[in-house]
Amino acid sequence: MLSLGNLAGKKYLVLGLGRSGRAAFRSLEASGAEVHAWDDDCQARELAAADGLSLSDPKLPDTLADLKAVVVSPGVPHLYPEPSKTVALALDAGIPLNNDIGLFFSAIRNDGILSAGAAGQIIAVTGSNGKSTTTALINHVLNASGRESRAAGNIGKAVLELSGIEGFVVLEISSYQAELAQCLDPDIAVFLNFSPDHVERHGGQGGYFAAKTNLFGGNSLHSGVIGVDEPEGRFLAARVEGRIGQPGTSRISVVDASRAVRAGVSCRNGVLVEYRDGREISSIDLSGCTNLQGTHNQQNACAAYSACRSVGLASDEIAAAMTSFPGLAHRMQLVGNFRGIQCVNDSKATNAKSAEMALRSFRRIRWIAGGLGKEGGLSSLTEGLENVEKAYLIGRSADEFAAWLEPLNHEICGDMANAVKKAFSDAVPGDTILLSPAAASFDQYQDFERRGEHFVREIQNLTG
Ligand code: ADP
Repeated sequence: MLSLGNLAGKKYLVLGLGRSGRAAFRSLEASGAEVHAWDDDCQARELAAADGLSLSDPKLPDTLADLKAVVVSPGVPHLYPEPSKTVALALDAGIPLNNDIGLFFSAIRNDGILSAGAAGQIIAVTGSNGKSTTTALINHVLNASGRESRAAGNIGKAVLELSGIEGFVVLEISSYQAELAQCLDPDIAVFLNFSPDHVERHGGQGGYFAAKTNLFGGNSLHSGVIGVDEPEGRFLAARVEGRIGQPGTSRISVVDASRAVRAGVSCRNGVLVEYRDGREISSIDLSGCTNLQGTHNQQNACAAYSACRSVGLASDEIAAAMTSFPGLAHRMQLVGNFRGIQCVNDSKATNAKSAEMALRSFRRIRWIAGGLGKEGGLSSLTEGLENVEKAYLIGRSADEFAAWLEPLNHEICGDMANAVKKAFSDAVPGDTILLSPAAASFDQYQDFERRGEHFVREIQNLTG
């Protein structure tokens, strides 16, 4: 756990008592602050109280009096579609909102507390898809090349759960986190790509994009790595180049190498190429990187490569490290090959664009999709459907997906067990049974991990 320096005499309310909220509570407490905790959900409150966190009801005037900030967890709506009950009270009372990421950066940059004795560089990664993979990949390449590095943020470990920040810290930052952090000041910022997601939490697509660009506004920024395959990325790259100069900005394109030739990285036929001033300066072959298959992973690899180059790693060091990247569970994870039928768990594909990436990566797909559909449903899915033999639809969005997929072969299966059973009984050797839902999981599961685990269990049940 990180200490945030001396916060004696300062009072905070931590709102939302999941993993990052609890870590924020402990860090603030260890730093001498007066910390109060609350969650609008009574079950979460009970669990937190059993864990020793002191609860204070924000409806009582004493709780909100003299607060320095309400530290809001990412799951709590802070503005759209409407502020949560407690956030609304705080806003009425004129209390600033912040989060764990903001506390972390303030402690380093403003108070200089965490930086003492630590020459660490902070790499922050955002984007619509591929954040976790790229964060894990950068962290892996740094560690495998003998540098000290740790990953945190939206990727499983909350930033304030870190035990230290020596060497490198690679932070995955979601749009919610980027919007709320009062201080967001990485040394290197990575923006992977942009497609509409979470629009309801940002009052539309513009708010979602603006939140992500916050990563590039800090004074410490010396390198920006920016995916330019969408207009938003090209807009951002031009702005960042205007701010920190072109040598510090690396453009990533997996669609059109000419977008990257001035200074950037592209990927053609599985070969990653680095450019400077219109010339190729190095290249690495990704074909040996078994856990970085598919165009989307090439985008992640290009971004990770650029970030690692910007902190001084050599091209061949990065190439060697990438081959041993183990990949992440629930992202195009090969579950097994059963009598010639390949099974792939891509439960993390919670929107149409990420599912499209998986559909483009295989042939003869038996596609299990559906759940809690996002705004726009499958409409941003423009490629890959030609590879689908049949769709097996589950969850709340099944009817909507079925109507959109017409006339593609599909069947409404309701739940995972039924979908896996039907897909297996239809499949022939050479087929791929792919769970890539293009929808959130919350209608049937606690999270995408449980959904992926259920898929794997159903396969194991059927294959022994
Ligand atoms: P995030 O953390 O942004 O949600 P993940 O790395 O966890 O991203 O991957 C989420 C899903 O998106 C997976 O289904 C994965 O296969 C897919 N994906 C990964 N990288 C990309 C990318 N660069 N572009 C589009 N989809 C991607």
